[in-house]
Amino acid sequence: MERGWRKPSTSMPSDLERAAGRAFTARYTDGRSAAAATVQVRLDERGIAIAIHGAEPLIWPYGALSTAAPLHAGAHDVLVRYAHQKGATLFVEDGAFTAGLAAAAQHLTVRAVRIKHATPWLWAFAGVLMITAIVWAMNLSPARMVAHLLPDSTRAALGAQVVRSMSANRRLCTSPDGVGALARMVGRLSEAADARKPFRVVVVDWGLVNAFAAPGEQIVLTRGLIGQAGGPDEVAGVLAHEMGHGLELHPETGVVRAMGIAAAIELMSGGSSGMLANIGQLLLQLSYTRAAESEADQQALRLLRGAKISQQGIIDFFSRVEKQDGSGAGRVDMLRTHPQIAERKRIAASVPSYPATPALSEADWQALKAICAP
Ligand SMILES: [Zn+2]
Repeated sequence: MERGWRKPSTSMPSDLERAAGRAFTARYTDGRSAAAATVQVRLDERGIAIAIHGAEPLIWPYGALSTAAPLHAGAHDVLVRYAHQKGATLFVEDGAFTAGLAAAAQHLTVRAVRIKHATPWLWAFAGVLMITAIVWAMNLSPARMVAHLLPDSTRAALGAQVVRSMSANRRLCTSPDGVGALARMVGRLSEAADARKPFRVVVVDWGLVNAFAAPGEQIVLTRGLIGQAGGPDEVAGVLAHEMGHGLELHPETGVVRAMGIAAAIELMSGGSSGMLANIGQLLLQLSYTRAAESEADQQALRLLRGAKISQQGIIDFFSRVEKQDGSGAGRVDMLRTHPQIAERKRIAASVPSYPATPALSEADWQALKAICAP
């Protein structure tokens, strides 16, 4: 059966088309007198046209209008104000008018008002996104960022706690000549480091080969490390590497990551002594990423060059450890990335040579080796 032919439906007239040209009755106050007048208004292409006593209609352009409440679909009345006619109001009680006005002046609608109010939040959200992107792009982990915010006093307290934990059952080596020799070596490297604070380096009476950086420019070396070294340049190489970790705030970053950012922020605002006590133990177990080791190596090479100490010491130390296949390496953080040692050695060896003098005089080297002598 043939279906009846149907006339294609024309598009529905818009709210504005329906309201345009129509006259609506409104109550108008001019803002000067309290009396309200009954007037005829139209939605003109320029704005609301208000016809008062047959005079030339007043035009209120859409862009300068505001309403007492945002316009929503199905609103039956609206109170309109005009920015350039202080106190004047227009009250229209007609759904067709409100619908037409909403179409002509979309900034008055609920939707527009919602977006406008959401804008500050959108900006804040965009800001957070941007910071996250920067952090990510610059390879700054949030933990590292917080580490950079820790005040010097907090970093110093953290470091002191770590050193205390490390030397809890061990003696700090303090032979005056040894301490003097160590200070001279540290001084040469510190000067090249241009650190925000001078480094504090202590030696503990411990046979294990170990060296590590603690927060607050503090470094611990062991008697075992100095005993294993073939000369002062090797100790200087290890020291420069640990100083490199310190300069990069790797120990602080490790602490923040391990304890959590929230706790670190609490620590910044005072913190508790109980919190600090646990951190010492925690830091002893930290290990660094390959990227962090590489950053520390780069810093070490820079410091050695600045201090005019040959980078050969670092290479010799790597070789010594390679030969011992890690067994004699103890827990030197520098050597935890054992598989990469060949590569790290190659990088150190690729640095063009520069004029250098031994890290310590022979007398100072002997004094440093005896720093733990009673
Ligand atoms: Zn390291």
